[in-house]
Amino acid sequence: MRFAPRTPIEARTEGATSPEGTVPTVAEADRRRAFERLSRQIARCTLCPLSQSRSHVVVYRGSPVPRVVFVGEAPGAEEDRQGVPFVGRSGKLLDRALETIGPALGGYGVLNVLKCRPPGNRFDPGAAESCRPYLERQLALLRPRAVAPLGARALRSLDPRSPPILVAAGAARQGPAGWLFPLIHPAAALRSRRLRERWERDVRALGAWLEAPPFEML
Ligand code: URA
Repeated sequence: MRFAPRTPIEARTEGATSPEGTVPTVAEADRRRAFERLSRQIARCTLCPLSQSRSHVVVYRGSPVPRVVFVGEAPGAEEDRQGVPFVGRSGKLLDRALETIGPALGGYGVLNVLKCRPPGNRFDPGAAESCRPYLERQLALLRPRAVAPLGARALRSLDPRSPPILVAAGAARQGPAGWLFPLIHPAAALRSRRLRERWERDVRALGAWLEAPPFEML
């Protein structure tokens, strides 16, 4: 599959196949096209003031048919520069962790609640409201079996009634729109040894959960 024109936002879905390597069904192909249209729409977004300060909109990276979608908070400096989510230090930790549970994970995707970098990396709740329809539509079109919010803000955006992140992380829960498997934010795991151990334990728990998913996920 090729996007035209090719820009950073259309990041990294090229060449990906469905997990079984099969030809997509008509409905699946329609959904992929709708996702590409949505990606182009997000890339042109000027709904909030963050559009004035960004270098690139950061839309998505990963499989067009992800089994799990990881949802971060907002792009940082490196993501803003490249137009691709989780490519900085946090992203490297995320990718390394996901390699360890790769076979259980299948195809996966990565995106953020905010599509543009907030100045000073300060999460902007107003911008998150502007981005909300994009987030919901992305997840509806990608149809992952589970969503893994990374950190408190992503978790609250997907499930406002969830317990605090340190209580919720590392266990599957039913969110308003399907299965959630919250994890602490990888940036937190980079800050302390205790949180790094928690991160590693919770990622292993995600792998184990995916190996033996509840019947609704099969
Ligand atoms: N942190 C996030 O939450 N998202 C990114 O894309 C990078 C760092």
